[in-house]
Amino acid sequence: NRRTTPESTATTCPYCGVGCGVLAKPDAVQGDVGHPANNGRLCVKGSALHETVTGHDRLLAPRVAGHNVEWSEAIDRVAEAIRVSVRDHGPESVAFYLSGQLLTEDYYIANKLAKGFIGTPHVDTNSRLCMSSAVAAHKRAFGEDCVPGCYEDLELADLLVLAGSNAAWTHPVLYQRIKASHRSGRKVVAIDPRQTATTEMADLHLQLRPGTDTLLFNGLLVWLNDHGALATQYLEQHCNGFEETLSVARACAPSILAVARGCDLRAVDVERFYRWFAETDRTVTAFSQGINQSVAGTDKANAIINCHLATGRVGRPGAGPFSLTGQPNAMGGREVGGLANTLAAHMDYDTPGAVQRVADFWHSEKLAAGPGYKAVDLFEAVHRGDIRVLWVMGTNPAVSLPDSTRVREALARCETLIVSDCVAQTDTTAYADILLPAAGWGEKDGTVTNSERCISRQRRFLPVPEGVRPDWRIIRDVAQALGYGHAFDYQEPAEIFREHAALSGYGNGGERVFDISALAKLSPAEYDRLQPVQWPLTGGNPGAWLQTRRLFSDGRFPTPDGRARLVPVSNLPPGQQPDARYPLIVNTGRIRDQWHTMTRTARAPRLFAHRSEPFIEVHPKDIATFGLIEGALATLTGPTRKGFTGRVRASAAQRPGEVFVPIHWNRQFASSALASNLIAPIVDPISGQPEAKFGVATLRPL
Ligand code: SF4
Repeated sequence: NRRTTPESTATTCPYCGVGCGVLAKPDAVQGDVGHPANNGRLCVKGSALHETVTGHDRLLAPRVAGHNVEWSEAIDRVAEAIRVSVRDHGPESVAFYLSGQLLTEDYYIANKLAKGFIGTPHVDTNSRLCMSSAVAAHKRAFGEDCVPGCYEDLELADLLVLAGSNAAWTHPVLYQRIKASHRSGRKVVAIDPRQTATTEMADLHLQLRPGTDTLLFNGLLVWLNDHGALATQYLEQHCNGFEETLSVARACAPSILAVARGCDLRAVDVERFYRWFAETDRTVTAFSQGINQSVAGTDKANAIINCHLATGRVGRPGAGPFSLTGQPNAMGGREVGGLANTLAAHMDYDTPGAVQRVADFWHSEKLAAGPGYKAVDLFEAVHRGDIRVLWVMGTNPAVSLPDSTRVREALARCETLIVSDCVAQTDTTAYADILLPAAGWGEKDGTVTNSERCISRQRRFLPVPEGVRPDWRIIRDVAQALGYGHAFDYQEPAEIFREHAALSGYGNGGERVFDISALAKLSPAEYDRLQPVQWPLTGGNPGAWLQTRRLFSDGRFPTPDGRARLVPVSNLPPGQQPDARYPLIVNTGRIRDQWHTMTRTARAPRLFAHRSEPFIEVHPKDIATFGLIEGALATLTGPTRKGFTGRVRASAAQRPGEVFVPIHWNRQFASSALASNLIAPIVDPISGQPEAKFGVATLRPL
């Protein structure tokens, strides 16, 4: 690699979907000026990366039933548990729960083992909690799960709409790029029920009633139509479904007044947003978890995409809908089939010819024939006893999934729970029958794909502790112990990557957008030197590939007729509503300096300086209503009956009647501050994504 030097190694940050390049040494990191995502920038989490990789809580030896064992015994025990379960209860009694923290090579081989050789379709990932609604919406609109644009579009846009995104805290370097590109005449609209660090930069903050995003964007579509602001020629030539979509939108949002009333906004602000959108050709709508984590997340995302299709603003410089992915490799997981509804090579089960194509390529005789359980349903199946062997890799579902108590019951009931992790003690490893010590960031090699479809290398620069193995190798060894050595004879992650790249082109015929087959012949040295590249790629010469900055610029889409689809969506209400017993709406989210369930970022003391303990942000009016004292402890309790205890922070950033809690704290750092206890297992029926932005609860002083 050009930027790797004897002193430092070019790799990527694992703490969000921006996917920044870093130059790493054991005792320091700096931003990589040569990486297109960040051009040298870093945020606080990225700057503290080297402080989060060391610690006393590493898992350093395999354990079975709490005792350290040799690797050979651990691998045999895993293989035996799977073999017996398949023999006695069928392949569907085995499930894998993966993570957007895994590298693409890990993800690929896990998916191949489960779906292709064990024959179970039950492979899902914590990315389900992050952006699966965006995936489903992309597929409905474009025919394939594709982000049409690139980060540069957020800089080029003359109108930037940030919907359900606190990018200043959750995608900080992208936010830095947005701020640095700010110029006179450029406008920013933030759509968020809360005031945040991001809404501070907005020219217009639409602090709407939670759950009403579809109403707002349906109203926009109607307004654009009624004011002659649609790209009628583009609609005629490149899109289906406009008339029906407009009709449903009009029934839902007949007027600005109806939108203002439903969204609890001032009509003048709604109209200003609509006018700016109509007037500004270069408009990007970037959306994130505030849209996705909803019982109607897919519909909300489609309501946004509808407006972009109707104005012809897709895949053009500075114009398009843009899904901001949460995790560093959530998109890599989508590429290899890490979601229960996907198969491999970015194909779903219902992609024509996909099952045969993958079965042929893998020489698999028992490929799982249809979609498996999505995350919430998967853990319910464990709870019921239908799934008897569960292998969790690199994630902490006991903290992160809705209704944590129920998930813990499921983990406790599971006949054989296998957990691969680099950390010894997490809320999930506590339930493991077999613990497998996995290599962490800096200790393994592979690739990740960020929010703009850019594939980057993660490179090893730290010694791998004795007794620890990279995930791909653990999975390979289990596959070989199960008798599938002929299909899992990998010696290096580069071999897995080449196979994944080859599969993307196998039988593709140019119909599918995801094609990285140009990378299928990389030599080990070329893989090692691989520079960030944006898919799809064409051309065969390393370093001379034609990358694709923007998709669909020619108005052609990967649907059977080549046309995009506007999707009729109405404004579905949230799955729960506040009432006399649970009068408050609970919003959950990330804070600036922590990541996921804090199993790694909690190792860096300076990352606690920003927020050192769990908190509940409460509007000052509600502080009085609920008899609270600012700075004292209070407990939120919702229908699951399990509470969240935190320090009361008075904040007019909330709308009255709404509270905000952080998602990060696990039981080791705070015994009763699990935000997931406040989230019901209510999911979007299309994407399966839980409604993490809308719980209900009551609040009392502790
Ligand atoms: Fe890491 Fe995200 Fe910060 Fe970049 S913005 S340094 S990827 S946490």
